[in-house]
Amino acid sequence: MSRWLWAGGATAAFMAFGSGRPLAPLRVATAGTNDPGALSVRGAGVLARTECPPGTAPDNDACVHLTRGAEDGPLAPALPNAHREKSGRWAQYEQIPRLPDRPSDYDAYRYPIPPGLPNGHYVVSGYDLDRPDENQRRGRTLSHVGHGGVDLPQAKGTPVKNIGLEHQEGDAEVLYAGHLFGTTVVTRHSLREGGRLRDYVVLFGHLDSIAAGLAPGAAMKEGDLVGAVGDTGSPSLVHLHYEVRRVREGVDLAKVPAGAQLLADSVSVVCDPRNVLPLK
Ligand SMILES: [Zn+2]
Repeated sequence: MSRWLWAGGATAAFMAFGSGRPLAPLRVATAGTNDPGALSVRGAGVLARTECPPGTAPDNDACVHLTRGAEDGPLAPALPNAHREKSGRWAQYEQIPRLPDRPSDYDAYRYPIPPGLPNGHYVVSGYDLDRPDENQRRGRTLSHVGHGGVDLPQAKGTPVKNIGLEHQEGDAEVLYAGHLFGTTVVTRHSLREGGRLRDYVVLFGHLDSIAAGLAPGAAMKEGDLVGAVGDTGSPSLVHLHYEVRRVREGVDLAKVPAGAQLLADSVSVVCDPRNVLPLK
């Protein structure tokens, strides 16, 4: 396991995910009005509610968005999460957490490569942007960044194959092939949600190589070759970074310049991949 002890706490974060432990209910969050108990728990490293931005609640030394209820459907809006930066200032960002009806166990899903961990496990570092700082890869010391995808370790050169997402209609389409997260392929997938189609983009990062002939505009069917697992942009850490982003309402991807613009806040919002990965 030692080779996975990178990015300051990735392994610890993974173990937290492996337990399937849901985000602890926030007692403070249930207090719609002043709750003397909530405010009296202040101590070293514990925030009072007044120190968190609007729409969030304190959880130890981080501010996290309130968990959502079972009434949230697939069209639920993106939610902000907030973190304290090294400067001490709060930074808010949008993200789409795992929906309540989707399994937390990463091994319940299919992936573009075979499992690369012992006992058939896939994911060495999971989606953590909905977690408090200390449960993100960035860790309590804020020395790294959170993780908006899943990391799937495998041997260098292992074929990476396109997979259809839940409720996908039609083929996927290649939007970009080039440098982004190391060598990266980005595909578009149209999913039927709530009776209409919504676009998602998928990133295959750190590839060793891109499949021959693969170019923007190409249709991608289930099982089509995307490329090969590698460590570009993450030297010596051979794995596939698989990330899913939901395209914003009203955005026409045909008018978005291919490449980093696909990840711009105005174009797409990062999403827990378990919301759209196919179940086994
Ligand atoms: Zn990653």
